[in-house]
Amino acid sequence: MKNRTGINRRDFMRTAIVGGTAGVLPLSISALPKNQESNKTPVKMEFRTLGKTGLKVSAIGMGTMRTTDPNVIHYAIDSGVNYFDTAHCYMNGNNESIVGTVLKSRRKEVIIATKVHIANEKTMTSSVESSLKSLQTDVIDVIQLHSLKRSSHSKNEDAMNTLEKLRKRGLVRFVGFTTHKNQVEVIEAGIETGFYDTVLVTYSYKSDAEIGTVIDKAAKAGMGVIAMKTQQGGYTSDQFKKLSPHQASLRWVLKNPNVHTTIPSMVAFAHVDENVGTMRHKFGAVDQNTLELYGQVFSKEICNFCGSCDPQCALQVPVQDINRCLMYAEGYRDFNLALDTYRELLTESQVNACINCESCRVQCPVGLDIPNRLSKARELFNPVFV
Ligand code: SF4
Ligand code: SF4
Repeated sequence: MKNRTGINRRDFMRTAIVGGTAGVLPLSISALPKNQESNKTPVKMEFRTLGKTGLKVSAIGMGTMRTTDPNVIHYAIDSGVNYFDTAHCYMNGNNESIVGTVLKSRRKEVIIATKVHIANEKTMTSSVESSLKSLQTDVIDVIQLHSLKRSSHSKNEDAMNTLEKLRKRGLVRFVGFTTHKNQVEVIEAGIETGFYDTVLVTYSYKSDAEIGTVIDKAAKAGMGVIAMKTQQGGYTSDQFKKLSPHQASLRWVLKNPNVHTTIPSMVAFAHVDENVGTMRHKFGAVDQNTLELYGQVFSKEICNFCGSCDPQCALQVPVQDINRCLMYAEGYRDFNLALDTYRELLTESQVNACINCESCRVQCPVGLDIPNRLSKARELFNPVFV
């Protein structure tokens, strides 16, 4: 099937993978220790306490953002997963409905987290009421302010008052926020308010040390910490053979006791098996080697969302977010999600200012070729919109 760019899915995947490995000299696979793990070994899910909420959450949760088959969610529950994360806006509202078909019969087995954008009280209340209807439940366990980017967002008193009113009405149990950008500033401000029960943060083995430090601080303040983007985009390559960079990266994140759960995206039964299979053992030498290989194979694609690029561009091109769109397209292989995210960027920023810029001054500390990445994004996404 052709998507809106006229590129079919298979063509796109081939382009992405070829682009991802061209010119790279990977670590020698034969030099890596053999993965002794058997997929038949039984898995025992670990449960952690989600900060002051007191909720016992599975260390492997599930991000349902791209899940279209409710049976995959049923399978995840059967496999020991009890924490599920969605958002009112995912799939234009349809994702909550898909989750709702499962919650209808299994509500007591599941902790459900969803999100609401900061807006006026009427709009936020209506969004949460609509989420309740779609999710077919009378209470949301964790409601999160969606995608906060500045300290003023986490300190927004009107938004906090609205969440408090929703809590008093019994429509939500706990309140939190999510952040992809300026995470340290946003989380520090959230901690200062003393209001929030949870935070959903981008965190992986590629994250700057300061993210680990602010996670520790949030957990010490009693907040439940949920990690997302744990797998650096989920890129795949035949070069990994039996190794699983996805399991290795999840194991790395879960080494941190201040991370209480994770929400890798799962759209197929095999994803559930792979992610839940993380529980078979702790992070070890094979995982370390696997991550090194992963980093090497995709050194030209993997963005660690450090955010240091954005302030370098005088025209305020959202370089970090454009790289996130590329990750959705190349790593997740979800072209529609990439397009939806890119469309939002087009409405709020000067995404195409680069076209008339003579030389890019943005330097990426992990070595991504920024002009090349931005040009690739324009090539992939602009034909749909321009
Ligand atoms: S593109 Fe580079 S500088 Fe920008 S957020 Fe990603 S890793 Fe950081
Ligand atoms: S090419 Fe120019 S406009 Fe685009 S990110 Fe680089 S400095 Fe900014």
